[in-house]
Amino acid sequence: VEDELMRAQRLESLALLAAGLSHDLRNILQPLLIIPDLIRDRSDDPKIIRLADVIAECGRRGHEMVESMLSFVRGSRQPSERIVLQRLFQAVGMLLKSSLPRNAELHLEVSDDRIAIEANYTELQQVLLNLALNAIQAMPDGGTLSLIAERVAGEEDKVRIRVSDDGIGMDEATVKRLFTPFFTTKSDGTGLGLVSCHRIVESIGGQIQVQSQLGEGTTFELLLPMFECSGDEDAEPVESNRVGHG
Ligand code: ADP
Repeated sequence: VEDELMRAQRLESLALLAAGLSHDLRNILQPLLIIPDLIRDRSDDPKIIRLADVIAECGRRGHEMVESMLSFVRGSRQPSERIVLQRLFQAVGMLLKSSLPRNAELHLEVSDDRIAIEANYTELQQVLLNLALNAIQAMPDGGTLSLIAERVAGEEDKVRIRVSDDGIGMDEATVKRLFTPFFTTKSDGTGLGLVSCHRIVESIGGQIQVQSQLGEGTTFELLLPMFECSGDEDAEPVESNRVGHG
């Protein structure tokens, strides 16, 4: 409990800090996003063009970091909608295919097309993408990335989503630090991916858990409140269905 409290306090002060920083950083980075194009337009010198590319890449990475800081700060303040899980999986599958190495396989499965979740679309997509991209990065020698969604037996208002890889895995000490802001083992990591996953999942009333074995792989499990949707379009909350049917 104390751990949880410390984490919450730390997150709150970090959120304030990040909000201020990201605003200023956005402005500071602006020239890095514009100037490389101006240089490319005005020069035929391949060396100069290469330097412009370097500047552009720094700008892009800086911009990405600012955006992930911002999405971490925004937390639950985004508008939510009913999302048909099968559609979200299709979209995520399309996005992932482009970053999947040739020796890796992608397995997507939603147990039925009536599962819907109430969340901000971009944020929920971000959660799945963050977990999936971490999984891909954990399988440098290839393997299988799977995203599986199914109803939770005995709990008709919950859906379980598992994001699994058979990659490098983690030891216990690493697992303990996963949700600590800025904890990363990557040279180009931000250490904010899982922190914002955690925040987004909590903001929609869900839970996130991890199981990992060094050298075997990792499974992130999301337990989310679900809504029943009839076929495709409108989703009805399971809660009110239950009331309606006695
Ligand atoms: P980042 O990806 O920027 O490092 P994250 O918060 O997404 O930030 O992840 C933090 C750390 O957790 C990673 O640097 C990595 O060490 C570890 N990690 C996350 N997902 C996995 C995974 N699927 N397999 C192994 N390690 C992982």
